[in-house]
Amino acid sequence: MTDKVVVITGGSRGIGRATALAAAARGYRVVVGYATNQAAANEVVTAIEARNGKAIAVKCDVGSEQDILALFKAADGFGTLGALVNNAGIVGKSGVRVDEMSAERIQQMMSVNVTGSILCAREAVKRMSTKHGGKGGVIVNLSSVAAKLGAPNTYVDYAASKGAIDSFTVGLGYEVAGEGIRVAGIRPGLIDTDIHAAGGEPDRAHRLAHMVPMKRVGTADEIANAIVWLISDEASYVTSAILDVSGGR
Ligand code: NAP
Repeated sequence: MTDKVVVITGGSRGIGRATALAAAARGYRVVVGYATNQAAANEVVTAIEARNGKAIAVKCDVGSEQDILALFKAADGFGTLGALVNNAGIVGKSGVRVDEMSAERIQQMMSVNVTGSILCAREAVKRMSTKHGGKGGVIVNLSSVAAKLGAPNTYVDYAASKGAIDSFTVGLGYEVAGEGIRVAGIRPGLIDTDIHAAGGEPDRAHRLAHMVPMKRVGTADEIANAIVWLISDEASYVTSAILDVSGGR
């Protein structure tokens, strides 16, 4: 067990949950952020504690700056921040074209997926940067292959939010490369989680599996394994880089 803390936004379900369990197995103390599903977050904490790990659940809607400040305050009381996984993300209803999109939908998308990630990174940099007296660390941002494909006729607003995340990963990585902080992105492909149901298409990943060169959907664990590698010292020369974990898609 290290005294290093990893903050995972949206750690209660899906990729975030798998990452929380994988990071705990590697000795991290895990701050499990969640938006509304406290029971799911508590279940992750219980599963980590059952394996002699340390974790706390903290309510944090990343669309709220106040919640983000509270999340990092809770992390401060738990150990030394060593990594942030900007995992929380949403999709809007699938199949809505841009000429049908409301301003509210687009604003919500950008607020959660983009502004939330940037604000969380701000709080992490304040704590980890050697410029601010910190000991360095790693930030991993969850993008999507949608950033490259554009998601036409599905959810272009979501794809655009992940394109912003890719630019943010590259730029922030350069900005703090001399301050002990590495920044990396992951672009998952079609992964079997609840997010597709949230977009109104629970079977989306399986329906499109034939379009994946590997002819199958990915699992949350396959993304989590890449994330825990990126936050580990084994990835010590990786920064401003984005890794596709997508079966070739
Ligand atoms: P998921 O199964 O829908 O889980 C979403 C997680 O994010 C939950 O823990 C949820 O918390 C949390 N969350 C939702 N809205 C939030 C908000 N406003 N503030 C804070 N937390 C919030 O999603 P997933 O599939 O694991 O996706 C995780 C990340 O991977 C996202 O950034 C997503 O865009 C990206 N991604 C996923 C796929 C895929 O195919 N699954 C592909 C490419 C990229 P509650 O439990 O409290 O609701």
